[in-house]
Amino acid sequence: MKKRYKLFALALALFCLLSGRAQAMENDMIKVGIKYGSNALFSANLYNYEGYGHGYAMGYFDEQRRFMPIGAVTDEEGVSMTADGNVYISSSNYYETPVDGYSGMIGGWHLQLDGWFDTFDEAANVAETYPNAFVAYLNDRYAVRIGQYASATAARYALSTWDGDEPMTVAEPSSTAVMVTVTSTNRILLEFDCGTRRFLAMQPVSMRGEKTVTWFKGYRYNGSFEYRRQPGGYITVINVVELEDYVKGVIGWELGGDKPLESLKAQAVCARTYAAFQTRHSAQGFDVCSTTDCQVYQGTAASNATTDAAVDQTAGEYLFYQNEPVLNAVYYSCNGGASEDCKNVWGSEVGYLKGKEDPFEASVASRIYGYNWSVSYTGAELGSKLKAKGYDIGTVTNVYVSETTPMGNVCALTFEGTNGTKTVYREACRTVLGLKSMRFAVGGGDGSQSGGIFVNDMRTSLAALRGAYVISGNGSVAPYDASNAYVITSGGVTALGRSGGTQSPAGKFTFSGSGSGHNVGLSQWGSIAMAQQGYSYRDILQFYYTGVTIR
Ligand SMILES: [Zn+2]
Repeated sequence: MKKRYKLFALALALFCLLSGRAQAMENDMIKVGIKYGSNALFSANLYNYEGYGHGYAMGYFDEQRRFMPIGAVTDEEGVSMTADGNVYISSSNYYETPVDGYSGMIGGWHLQLDGWFDTFDEAANVAETYPNAFVAYLNDRYAVRIGQYASATAARYALSTWDGDEPMTVAEPSSTAVMVTVTSTNRILLEFDCGTRRFLAMQPVSMRGEKTVTWFKGYRYNGSFEYRRQPGGYITVINVVELEDYVKGVIGWELGGDKPLESLKAQAVCARTYAAFQTRHSAQGFDVCSTTDCQVYQGTAASNATTDAAVDQTAGEYLFYQNEPVLNAVYYSCNGGASEDCKNVWGSEVGYLKGKEDPFEASVASRIYGYNWSVSYTGAELGSKLKAKGYDIGTVTNVYVSETTPMGNVCALTFEGTNGTKTVYREACRTVLGLKSMRFAVGGGDGSQSGGIFVNDMRTSLAALRGAYVISGNGSVAPYDASNAYVITSGGVTALGRSGGTQSPAGKFTFSGSGSGHNVGLSQWGSIAMAQQGYSYRDILQFYYTGVTIR
């Protein structure tokens, strides 16, 4: 029996080990990098919003992301976390070097009583008997530090002239310590230093059980904050927040809080899935950053009753493709008529990112600013645009769509110039000229339009002319080479594949198209249109992401 239990325990431990991410999902806490890398801070203020909370508990987050209090609490509303060392104070800001007219400073050297304390309270009781003393939490033990000195010399002098007989030593600044002070003052509430093993966390205290709302750098945040310092570096500021609250903060930025509920619910499922399974920032100590690199997040700034409802009504739901979470639920503003295979835009095959004709966008097109667009360039302008991208083919004398996808989007665009020819493929068809989408035709300024020429037989199509064969009038067959095939129209005979390239009398080429964005995945306007037509968020996700499930 006992042996069996042991085996069971081993299996359980193995399961937990192997399903680390699933565990992280279960506790539903997400770490969001707010200030990191070159934006890491020397000093970070925090303000516990009046009426919702009162003061902070100090501690750290364990591996399961549980807040572990270390006994230090404060009633102060405004606190500042600062890298250890001499600190110069001006108004409510803290600086590493003296600034003009600074009003005070924190000395980086202290005297430390010999010996350790088991609890914060024991240490705090002793600290209270000294002037300017505070508690330091050093590798899970508590010490009492006294005074503030601006140099080792000053601290040593203070030690040599100390008129008590208790044993103490000089404590130097640490490259991994973070000081917690009352904002605008040099009053130290705690010094926290557990190397790079553990990091200071500040948990706002709720007065009546409501969610706390804390101000940081002009934005309000739910949850707690973690302050990570790599040796000698500034402080990485991380918001540790419930996953659902994070998603509430994100979807308003992604779609706009005034959009229909079902479209916001679709966005919520995507945002939640991305964050819960994301590991790209793990070396920096958090799951997702707060910029467009991951998902824009500025606390509660973009949330409202509708975005909150969208998150609550999809709580705990994720998007899967073949049992794997969908981490690239990419989207764009509008596709202009059809989305596109990932392969034809970014070159890689992704099962759930397939092109689709979009029957929904059209119903809201009149509300989309710039849905249909047109832009004209002279041959010289095109030549300099190409040159800026590294393709010097002189003045452009002809442009034509040389390949379209089965969805009718442009995936090869050829420029002929006085100094050579250049064809660009996939996303570059849009980005090389800064066009709004890959769904366009090229024409001269006379209003004529072209797409690439492609041959349809019911549902399949020959998207490219490369590799096609041409049968001539006398029955001979030859590979198509753009000079041996012609189309007869009411206006005359044109070389096949070259129909759009004629310059207008004004000498301009015109690119006319519809849509805005990369066309891969979900159309945000299409999603809005579907919601308005009564489709659910599940319908929306399953239309724009091929073969996905929501659970
Ligand atoms: Zn990121």
